[in-house]
Amino acid sequence: MSLTLPTIPLPNSQVDPGDFSEEEIEAEAIRLQGAIQQLHRWPIEACRTIAPLTLEINRLKEERDVFLIAHSYQTPDIIYGVADEVADSYTLSKAARDAPQMTILFSSVRFMAETAKIVSPHKTVIHPSPEAGCSLSDGITAQDVRDLKTQYPGVPVACYINTTAAVKAECDVSVTSSNYLRICERLPGDRLIFVPDRFMGAHLQKSLEGRKEVIVFDGECEVHATFTGEKVRHWRKQIGEEVSVLAHPECGADVLEEADFVGSSEKLINEAVRLGSLNRPNVMLITECGTAERVLAETDSELNLFGACVMCRHMKATQLEDILQALKEPRADQIIEIDQEIIARAQRNLEEMFRLAE
Ligand code: SF4
Repeated sequence: MSLTLPTIPLPNSQVDPGDFSEEEIEAEAIRLQGAIQQLHRWPIEACRTIAPLTLEINRLKEERDVFLIAHSYQTPDIIYGVADEVADSYTLSKAARDAPQMTILFSSVRFMAETAKIVSPHKTVIHPSPEAGCSLSDGITAQDVRDLKTQYPGVPVACYINTTAAVKAECDVSVTSSNYLRICERLPGDRLIFVPDRFMGAHLQKSLEGRKEVIVFDGECEVHATFTGEKVRHWRKQIGEEVSVLAHPECGADVLEEADFVGSSEKLINEAVRLGSLNRPNVMLITECGTAERVLAETDSELNLFGACVMCRHMKATQLEDILQALKEPRADQIIEIDQEIIARAQRNLEEMFRLAE
């Protein structure tokens, strides 16, 4: 039951390899293969094909003083080829805010680029794939939150960070997969509204049982919703030896009950690398495939990854060609613009997260 990572189509290079010398392309291909660390899925021929693209993107990035950040679920050619920083969405937004560059290119889904704009309103934030959405953030509107507030007047509203700027502006505080329990516990009163993730909401209901009533919206991450406790038990049985199950909190409660460790993407990567260093190589990752790609690239230990990861079609919508085009000449729909009033209200929401997370 070894983990098989899905094939990622190679980009059609728009860059004339003649723009770079054979030596430059060969050196870049070797660098890419060494960083990605998957010799079979990313053979040297594939790395040679994308090398002119990564070379050109890196050249343009420097020439135009652009800080390029990529979410962990982006493909390895983006993560190890052109990104200046890779992490979860909120860590990246803070990195974008603190970077000296005034232009940020965020390779990810739309709501993440919006979060970067909220924390850096004075910077230009480019999002190469405007159509790259997210089933969680697109599953709720600002009007849905207003309706909930009318139905439950005075009840504080917490939103998972996977929401649009307009939704954040309507909520009292944002939470991440690392701090949602702590923050919701600290909200005033004995009731709270949690949007939009019903799985995280169910986990909150269980954790706060007897202390707070949690009113939950009915959204879900289409990737993590595909896992079930039954599948995990089935895979465990097939493996037939000791395996550590690591799951993302966007999974359902039945999956989390089977997990030995629950955490955000960064925490899952760190835990898998830690287990490898302790000579506990059997790991089942219950999350998006990008996490497994990063684990393989970022550990020197022999790890046996099991289970079946799921690719997020939204996250995989961005390719190197999109990044190159957006760097060269971004279209209007690739530049994040948010109404000033929404930015100000969404900023208050994020400041409240910092205050309550301490
Ligand atoms: S993995 Fe889930 S939460 Fe993340 S972008 Fe895809 S649909 Fe949204």
